[in-house]
Amino acid sequence: MTIATTAELNEVTIRSAPKVLLHDHLDGGVRPVTLIELAVQTGYGDLPSTDPGELARWFSESAYSGSLERYLETFSHTVGVMQTREALIRVASECVQDLAADGVVYAEVRFAPELHVEQGLDLDEVVQAVLDGFAAGTLAAAAAGKKIRVQALLTAMRHAARSSEIAALAVKYRDQEVAGFDIAGAEAGFPPTRHLDAFEYLQRENAHFTIHAGEAFGLPSIWEALQWCSADRLGHGVRIIDDITLAADGTPQLGRLAAYVRDKRIPLEMAPTSNVQTGAAESIAEHPIGLLTRLRFRVTVNTDNRLMSGCSMTSEMTALVQAFGYDWTDLRWFTINAMKSAFLPFDERLTIIEEVIKPGYAALLG
Ligand SMILES: [Zn+2]
Repeated sequence: MTIATTAELNEVTIRSAPKVLLHDHLDGGVRPVTLIELAVQTGYGDLPSTDPGELARWFSESAYSGSLERYLETFSHTVGVMQTREALIRVASECVQDLAADGVVYAEVRFAPELHVEQGLDLDEVVQAVLDGFAAGTLAAAAAGKKIRVQALLTAMRHAARSSEIAALAVKYRDQEVAGFDIAGAEAGFPPTRHLDAFEYLQRENAHFTIHAGEAFGLPSIWEALQWCSADRLGHGVRIIDDITLAADGTPQLGRLAAYVRDKRIPLEMAPTSNVQTGAAESIAEHPIGLLTRLRFRVTVNTDNRLMSGCSMTSEMTALVQAFGYDWTDLRWFTINAMKSAFLPFDERLTIIEEVIKPGYAALLG
């Protein structure tokens, strides 16, 4: 008889653990080699380098540059090559395969259809191409022995004026692996209430949505996203920390908004490396995820932009283990939090939790 022992926590074992990802941008996770090949195929001539290693470094340096202009430039290159049906299928398929290889068992991957119509595709064709790519990637992952379910979130750009159209698109495709809706882009100056029509329409349609809020901008953005727009989840929500003060004896005290977020179990889609790059947190060790986890907010761990941040679910969880000393029980808690918060029918969420996540961690816990 062998005595079961707890698996050591390292990149290899963490990669083998089942993981759930709710916040990942399709245009933020393109493989460098694919970017170079698609640039050649589509005649895109503006890439900063045609060497995969150098290009990956350029993306990482730009993301850490502290310059918003340089950070946004990185997306102009990925979006620049994602303008044809073939390119979208390839990027979407590889995204699923990369996530599956990283041990992700369920993911919601978001993209903004309005950014992919520069070369003649219409919004429906963009959505259809990405969904076809997800389906192809899921089959390829299965062939490699990895079971994964990936759904799409349709994003509208908060500075633009197409949110109602994109929200209608999300409802139209909701039975074809489009799980919900999101708004993204520059937060300051573009409050979520600017898109209130879209959110009210989605509520009347019993549809799900998350809102990027409390990343670059503070509490008013989170408050609007929840109390005016009724977001189901918060994209990042890091600044909720501004509504938590420490008493003289060090006891955390929650303001009314922070208490609401915790009481209502509002999921926070946190992406530690990305939050450090955009200045929403000083470092992983000082990231509010530490306190928010201690206070048992509904915290989830995410990648946001795998290419720009040079990260994966495995590397994010490994970084958190190193910074906060988390163990398998904590990683399972993040994972179950994410699965509970997914835009997937309740019974299907439960099945993944009971049949995939719990047994997966039980094996690692020994
Ligand atoms: Zn994001």
